[in-house]
Amino acid sequence: MTDLPANRPRPILFWFRRDLRLGDNPGLLAAARAGQPVIPVFIRDAAVEMLGAAPRWRLQQGLAALSEALAARGSRLILRAGPAAEVLAELAGETGAGAVHWTRLYDPEARARDARVSTRLQDCGIAAREFGGHLLFEPDSVRTSQGGAFKVFTPFWRAVQNRALPEPGAAPDLTAPAAWPESDRLADWRLDHDMQRGAAVVARYEQAGEAAALTRIARFLAADLADYETGRDRVAETATSGMSAHLSLGEVSPLTLWHRALAARAEPGGEAFRRQLVWREFAYHLMAQDPRLLESAWRPGWDHFPWRRDARAGTVLAWQQGRTGAPFVDAAMREMYVTGHMHNRARMIVASYLTKHLLCDWRIGQRWFEHCLADWDPAANALGWQWVAGSGPDAAPFFRVFNPALQAEKFDPDGQYRRRWIAEGQAHPPATALAFFDAIPKSWGLRADADYPAPIVNLKQGRADALAAYKEFNAGL
Ligand SMILES: Cc1cc2nc3c(=O)[nH]c(=O)nc-3n(C[C@H](O)[C@H](O)[C@H](O)COP(=O)(O)OP(=O)(O)OC[C@H]3O[C@@H](n4cnc5c(N)ncnc54)[C@H](O)[C@@H]3O)c2cc1C
Repeated sequence: MTDLPANRPRPILFWFRRDLRLGDNPGLLAAARAGQPVIPVFIRDAAVEMLGAAPRWRLQQGLAALSEALAARGSRLILRAGPAAEVLAELAGETGAGAVHWTRLYDPEARARDARVSTRLQDCGIAAREFGGHLLFEPDSVRTSQGGAFKVFTPFWRAVQNRALPEPGAAPDLTAPAAWPESDRLADWRLDHDMQRGAAVVARYEQAGEAAALTRIARFLAADLADYETGRDRVAETATSGMSAHLSLGEVSPLTLWHRALAARAEPGGEAFRRQLVWREFAYHLMAQDPRLLESAWRPGWDHFPWRRDARAGTVLAWQQGRTGAPFVDAAMREMYVTGHMHNRARMIVASYLTKHLLCDWRIGQRWFEHCLADWDPAANALGWQWVAGSGPDAAPFFRVFNPALQAEKFDPDGQYRRRWIAEGQAHPPATALAFFDAIPKSWGLRADADYPAPIVNLKQGRADALAAYKEFNAGL
C-alpha cells in the first residue's frame, strides 16, 4: 500500500458496472457524502468479455459519455482490465483506498463474482459495500400474501403499483484524490471490434450517456406519454421512451423514470409506462428467484419440446439475415441490425416466427438478440423469449401463433415500417433500408438491388406444423 500521511482521508473506490450515471446512484452518493476522495473505476473483466458485439460496442459509448461527465466535474474514470477481485485489491493498495462501493446486480455470474470480490477485499481489510439502484424494488421485498415469490405479472404489478418510493438522489460533487492512479485508454480496449463496419452505422442511431437519456425522456414525457398505451404498438413511430439501453447500462435509474412519469400527470399513458417499467422489475424478480430462467425452460417439461434440431441452419440464417420472405419479420430483423434496437411488437413477431413457424429453440433467438441488441438485458431478453415461446412464466400459450402478415396489416397498415427497412423491390429505397447493406458483413454477399426472397415457409403450413408439434408434446406432458 502507498504510504499516506496519517491525517489524509483514505479514498473510496466507486466501481461502476451497469450504473453509468452520476444522478440517483446511491453508492456513489454515499461515497461522496463520506467526505473522502472518490476514485471512479470501471473494470474490463470476464463479464465484459462475455458481452455480444452490439452490447459491448454500446458499453464503449456509455463509458465515453461517463468519462466526459466525470471530467466535467473535476473527476476521472479509471479504466483497468483483469479479474475484478485482483484489480480492486491492487488499486486499493496503490491508492490507499479503505472501501469499495458498487451497485448490486442480480444475474448469477455477477452475484458469484461480487461474492468473490467482497471476500477478497475483506481479507485485505478493505470494506466492500453494495447498494441498490438498478431496480425499483429489491426482489426479496415483493412477496405474495403467503410469503412466496410472484410468478404471474398482474398480481406482481398490483402489489407494487401504489408503493411509495423515495425521491431520486442528486448527482454528488466528487472530491479528487491527491494523485490519480494510472488508467488504460478506452480507445485501446477496442470494445467496438466485433461490430466491424456495423459500428459506424449503428452509431447514427444511438445516443449514449446520462445527459442523452434525460433529454430523450423529457421529450417522450412531453410528446408521447399521454398516448403511450396505443402509440406503443405503432411500429413505424418513435412513440416509446427509448430508455432500454440507458436502463440496461444504468445511464438513468428506473426510480428517476418512475418519478418523472408520475410528475408528468399524463394518465392513462403514465400508468401504462410505469407498468412496462415493472415488466423489467418482474424479469429481474424471476431471474433472482430462479436464475435458470436465462438458459432453461421455466415451465416443467418444456426443455423436451420437439424443437427442430435437424438441418434448419439455412432457415435460421435467413431469419438472422432478414431474408425469410415474410416482410414484417425481415424489416424487424434489419431494423435491429442497423439500429441495435427493435420495436417491442416486432420482437414478439420475430420471436413467434422463429419458435413457431420455424419451430426453432427459443435459445437460438435469445443468443442472436444478445449479439445484436444495443439494449441487451439478460433478464428482459430471457423473459421475452420464453414468454413468446410458451415455455416461460406467465407466458403466452404456444398455440398463440402471430401471423406476420396480419400483424403487419394491423400495426404497419400503410407499410411504412417495411419500406423503411427493406430495400429490395423499391425503385428509390430510403437511406435506412440501404444502411442494412453497409452494416452487414460483406461475407453475407447480399445486395440491395437483388430480388426480394420468396417465403421460406408458407405461413399457413408453418402454423399447422407448429400446432401439430405442440399437440403431440402436450399429450406427452
Ligand atoms: C423476444 C424479446 C426480447 C427482448 N429483449 C430485451 C432486451 O434484451 N432488453 C430489454 O431492455 N428489453 C427487451 N425486451 C423488452 C422490450 O421489447 C424492450 O424493453 C422495449 O422494446 C424497449 O423499448 P423502449 O425503451 O422504447 O420501451 P418502452 O415501451 O418505452 O418501455 C419502457 C421500459 O420498460 C421496460 N420494458 C418494456 N417492455 C418490457 C418487457 N416486455 N419486458 C421487460 N421490460 C420491458 C424497458 O426497460 C423499457 O425501456 C424484449 C422483448 C421480447 C419480446
